[in-house]
Amino acid sequence: MLETSIDAIINKEILTKEDLVRLLSSSEEESAVVFKKAAEIKAKYVGRKVYFRGLIEYSNRCKKNCFYCGVRAGNTQTGRYELTDDEVLEAAKFAWENKYASLVIQSGERNDKAFIKRIGGLLQSIKQLSGGKLGITLSMGEQTEETYRYWYDCGAHRYLLRIETSSRKLFEKLHPHNALHCYDRRLEALHSLKKSGYQVGTGVMIGLPFQTIENLAEDLMFFKNFDIDMVGMGPYIEHEQTPLYKYSDQLLSRTERFNLSMKMVALLRIIMKDINIAATTAMQTLDPQGREKAILYGANVIMPNLTSLKYREDYMLYADKPGITEDPEDSRSYLESRIKMIGETIGYNEWGDSKHFAARNINHTD
Ligand code: SAH
Ligand code: SF4
Repeated sequence: MLETSIDAIINKEILTKEDLVRLLSSSEEESAVVFKKAAEIKAKYVGRKVYFRGLIEYSNRCKKNCFYCGVRAGNTQTGRYELTDDEVLEAAKFAWENKYASLVIQSGERNDKAFIKRIGGLLQSIKQLSGGKLGITLSMGEQTEETYRYWYDCGAHRYLLRIETSSRKLFEKLHPHNALHCYDRRLEALHSLKKSGYQVGTGVMIGLPFQTIENLAEDLMFFKNFDIDMVGMGPYIEHEQTPLYKYSDQLLSRTERFNLSMKMVALLRIIMKDINIAATTAMQTLDPQGREKAILYGANVIMPNLTSLKYREDYMLYADKPGITEDPEDSRSYLESRIKMIGETIGYNEWGDSKHFAARNINHTD
């Protein structure tokens, strides 16, 4: 009986917030029905294919002080680094030679001219070394529309900026109260990215202190209403050197946070059939097979880390981040065999752009 009711909900044309709350609260048995539906939708709309984006963690220098993040400016217990041009280009070359087709360059947030120019120059060099063929996603926080346009012109074509939580109230609990950490500015930045022509990705953390199931249902509605092209979301993982750590005893267990993350991925695939969804590293932190599971339940993008091993320990957004000693070459062959094992193919040499982005642009020019 119960299964029938879950079935009836997931087969509705439009899921309401109440439906999403119900599905996020589903039992293990019920969620199997949700996972199955998500897998079917994924196969039908985006195919059983996974795209690799080589991840370059460019720098952990950050001017912000998000309460959850280990590389926040106020953390004096971490060393700070910035990759050299050669290190970035070497990682890009690795991606190119290994047919990854795309890169994600991520960094702590900075808005100074030197930083903006340096990133622009690197984008141009990466494009040059691959004859324009390596796709580039940036994840460098909030910037002005002018900067977003400049980086777009230099060669970036996708951008990830998580809203972190769509609840203004919760957002304000997770950040200092000042102009640098402002919910409205974040939203504005997402709009600027859209206007500048990017495929726009956002995302949230799952299992944050004070977060409710209703908040998560609203996050899913936010992605849908914003008409987002890509989502990268994952469990919140506490970090001792952050202010939010003091609420660790109020968190869901790691297993619960992981399970909730899988449900979020599956439900997102059900409500946004043709977007790109990442299987994130934080999922792997809570379950060694976390990324593969996310792929089975609807994700279609994975970001193998290409950052030089000597810097990995300093890019500790959260505790126990995996892959600290995993060489890019090992990680490539490991992932390849794991993905084949679960019956998916890897989109080597393909950008794997968001089908949703293509569709929304066709609709716009109609
Ligand atoms: N500075 C950029 C990009 C680097 S941070 C930005 O903030 O957009 C990338 C992501 O790491 C953030 O969006 C956040 O969602 C995630 N993150 C930070 N601390 C985390 C934690 N403790 N647990 C899980 N994810 C975390
Ligand atoms: Fe900086 Fe991003 Fe961490 Fe916030 S989440 S402190 S902006 S690196």
